[in-house]
Amino acid sequence: MPKNDTTPAIEFRGIVKQFGHNTVLDGLDFSVAKGDRVTLIGPSGSGKTTILRLLMTLEEADGGLIFVDGDPYTHEMRGDKRVPIPEKRRSLVRRRVGMVFQQFNLFPNMTVLENIIEAPIHVLGKSKAEAIADAEALLDKVGLAEKRDERPTKLSGGQQQRVAIARALAMEPDILLLDEVTSALDPELVADVLGVLRNIAETTDITMLIVTHEMQFAREVSNRVLMFDSGKIIEEADPETIFTTPTHERTQEFLRAVL
Ligand code: ADP
Ligand code: MG
Repeated sequence: MPKNDTTPAIEFRGIVKQFGHNTVLDGLDFSVAKGDRVTLIGPSGSGKTTILRLLMTLEEADGGLIFVDGDPYTHEMRGDKRVPIPEKRRSLVRRRVGMVFQQFNLFPNMTVLENIIEAPIHVLGKSKAEAIADAEALLDKVGLAEKRDERPTKLSGGQQQRVAIARALAMEPDILLLDEVTSALDPELVADVLGVLRNIAETTDITMLIVTHEMQFAREVSNRVLMFDSGKIIEEADPETIFTTPTHERTQEFLRAVL
């Protein structure tokens, strides 16, 4: 199929994910348009992280297909058989997706700069000079230019998370996944991280899939909100609608609890 701007950035088609006997996603369908900022909300255990981890290939679906910009992501149909796609193609599509986690997951034995240039050099094949120049620009963007030679452990949680954001952006992803990136932070550090993300949303066309309990942030940044319950989308709307006049009782309950 020829690609164009209407090809979804992400498409889940009948995705099934089980952990042992626990079926977490049971035929999930949804798609995200290019450049969309979609927030996933819903109670703990409803499958939000699992969806992001599937997109990071940290988990593998037991059934169904994922497409990224129209390309099969981990599996494809050959005739009526669902088969893994070859590793080489997989790693090429895999690169289009970046993720920032709740726990920053920086390499403690590397400096801030080394953390950021590692993958661009080894995965994208950038020269060291180019990777450093790009990393410095990103550090500037997240407000940490002067920390380039520090160890992550010397930084506050909020600063570490901003480094993690810069590291994800250094891979030049088309899609950025954010999983409760402010949940591990002291309250006074949250605003800086959200400010950086707001800036990225305003200045790039990266497709963003966001899991957050920061409803004000979700409202400002996202153009679409999906409410999950037990692995299913039970309601979806633009943020204004879902936060002011949610229709589903579970959504109303959930929002009453978090707001
Ligand atoms: P959320 O992010 O919405 O809180 P998760 O995607 O983390 O939800 O979890 C969805 C369900 O999957 C939960 O029942 C959780 O216990 C289960 N689950 C998630 N990861 C694992 C795992 N690695 N092993 C077993 N069960 C898991
Ligand atoms: Mg989660």
